Amino acid sequence: MVIHGGAGVMDRKDITPEMQNEYIKVLNLALHVGDSVLANGGTCMDAVEKTIVIMEDSPLFNAGKGSVFTHDGLVELDASVMDGKTLMAGAIAGVRDIKNPIRVARTVMEKSEHVMLSGIGASQFAKEQGFEPVDNSYFYTEKRYQSLQELLKKERESTTNDKHGTVGCVALDTFGNIAAGTSTGGMNNKKYGRIGDSPIIGAGTYANNLTGAFSCTGHGEYYIRLGFSRDISALMEYKNFSIQDACREEISKLTQMGGTGGVIGIDREGNIAMEFNTSGMFRGYIKSGGEREVAIFK
Ligand code: ASP
Repeated sequence: MVIHGGAGVMDRKDITPEMQNEYIKVLNLALHVGDSVLANGGTCMDAVEKTIVIMEDSPLFNAGKGSVFTHDGLVELDASVMDGKTLMAGAIAGVRDIKNPIRVARTVMEKSEHVMLSGIGASQFAKEQGFEPVDNSYFYTEKRYQSLQELLKKERESTTNDKHGTVGCVALDTFGNIAAGTSTGGMNNKKYGRIGDSPIIGAGTYANNLTGAFSCTGHGEYYIRLGFSRDISALMEYKNFSIQDACREEISKLTQMGGTGGVIGIDREGNIAMEFNTSGMFRGYIKSGGEREVAIFK
């Protein structure tokens, strides 16, 4: 299993050793939770969901609890999942009252005839499926609020926004199937119902047993335009690229376009990739033998 907690500009001096330990603790917990599912014969989809819920519930990551604010000071969440065996997928976009978007994305896949629900309709579906709505104030964290204020200030002074921090997970189970999931608050200071790559199948999330399972993080507009994760899969399917070469190739396309971010991937042989063109990406992996690693910087 491989996880990420967002890629972006990360300087060692900006993240204190104490904060680094906090991140590493949650990444390790997320890996542990997902690994326990897989080790007990659970499915890759269960592992992806449970792992992402841990990161959504942490205020550290830009998903669920720790999500960034929109320009108007609200939180709007996007998430998606995809099952590599059946090519079934589910996504929600632009929701304001769902505590764990990844769980609702999975429910869209399993319990609706649609792939993606947005806004009010997604919230209504979640309620019908028994999810308790939360008030938008649940997502308030002082850190994200201050970071919006800084951006608004910079915007007035017209500088750019480079804050990232989505979460994602890809997993291979004992049945030989793979799955991917991604959850995010989107981009800090986003406007007008903006939807990023994370809930878009083939952009921020993709899984196909024939190739690999992928979850992305970064400047979503570029990922959408590149058809990022589907393109990686195509490189593997049609050009026989290894998972690592395919992810590297796609990151280099991203770089050429002027975009920033990263991607994690896993294939059915358990080969993994963790590629990014930023100075850091919160990330980690665990193998069935117990070998694991978590890291933040390049
Ligand atoms: N990709 C996400 C988006 O554009 C943001 C991120 O990964 O940081 O919504």
